[in-house]
Amino acid sequence: MVVSVDLSLVVFGLISALAVICGLVHLALRHGSALAWLAATMVCVSVETLVIRYAAQTSWGIAAVSLLLPSAYLCASQAIRFSMGMAATRPRLVVVFAALIALSLLFLAMGAPTLLQTLPFQFAGIVVFLDAVLALAKHKDRGLLGNGLLVLCFGSLAGIAIRMPMFPLLLGEPAPFPIMATDTFERVFLNGLSVLTSGLAVLVIARIVANEIAIHRDRSERDGLTGLLNRRTFDEWVDKPTPASGVAVMCDIDHFKSINDRFGHHVGDEVLRSFARLLQDYSDQAGRVGGEEFALLLFDVSLDEARAQAETIRSRFHQLRHPDIAEAVPFSASFGVAEFQDGRPLREAMQRADKALYTAKQDGRNRVCLAPGARPFRDSSQRAA
Ligand code: GH3
Ligand code: MG
Ligand code: MG
Repeated sequence: MVVSVDLSLVVFGLISALAVICGLVHLALRHGSALAWLAATMVCVSVETLVIRYAAQTSWGIAAVSLLLPSAYLCASQAIRFSMGMAATRPRLVVVFAALIALSLLFLAMGAPTLLQTLPFQFAGIVVFLDAVLALAKHKDRGLLGNGLLVLCFGSLAGIAIRMPMFPLLLGEPAPFPIMATDTFERVFLNGLSVLTSGLAVLVIARIVANEIAIHRDRSERDGLTGLLNRRTFDEWVDKPTPASGVAVMCDIDHFKSINDRFGHHVGDEVLRSFARLLQDYSDQAGRVGGEEFALLLFDVSLDEARAQAETIRSRFHQLRHPDIAEAVPFSASFGVAEFQDGRPLREAMQRADKALYTAKQDGRNRVCLAPGARPFRDSSQRAA
């Protein structure tokens, strides 16, 4: 028994399934408009496939194709743009795009020849797609996937441009040029174009997945309140050899519990965020390793330079005023500082910095102390702001 399957239906089924998957993943992620645009592209392409298969000879079928084909390019352009973190197509270009489609529909209503009628809407699709490809070419941080995307985009664009005069062939009209009527031309050219555009969809999906992984990796490495690296990330580092020598600083906000108790937890949270911003400005790596405890890494600095940096943080935090706190309550923090050598694990330096922090607390808080064994320096509390 011979079972014949209509290729158009298979294509329709596959692209529709992909559209549903993209749509569902988009909903599951609760963000990521690139996937929604990709799903919309698939919907346009799958419906267009059906219309070309079953209604290409009717006026409403041609009108539908005139809308669906450029819409697929518009949606694909947005998917490419958003997957690369670029802005949407400019509204002015969308107006040109709509005007070209309207021209195609006008030609259809006037009974113009199919070739003339199909040119404006194809051109509309090419214009928005080319605009996205040029934006992609200017993108500085494309990476491997972005470069692959650019190559396939240019390939597809060339194919789509060459296909322009043969579109009537797809609608069941005779080929305008004899070479287009040959089987080889159709096989090689149209199949090649489908492979390119499918590859494009796969790369856009790969780029979206890579973005999602990067977002989730970043979230798993960072503290939700302050945006600094979290305890787990620092713990993963402490046993690894450091790539450079430098200084580790441990710090802890003084009497933080009383800030919470007097002004409320939300004020405490904002104080933590303000302190974290200072730490970020004055360090190479900053992490929140406890409730109000933080660790900093300063690479390629001497102990003196690191102490001066910690002093700056201490003094700026001391001068900070919170808008919700009417009375002038000076915040303060204590710091412990210890050097580390490149190629050695951080753990030992962080333990020594922690001991120095303990000393700073015992000596009266609001000060920077060097780890035991390090060169002594003048007590910073004498210069407290
Ligand atoms: P010390 O000078 O000895 O460090 O005293 P302290 O009050 O800062 O230290 P203590 O360990 O007694 O209190 C730390 C407080 O930090 C207790 C806890 O409620 C608060 N805390 C921990 N995490 C958070 C947070 O995410 N937000 C807020 N608002 N408070 C937090
Ligand atoms: Mg504290
Ligand atoms: Mg503490």
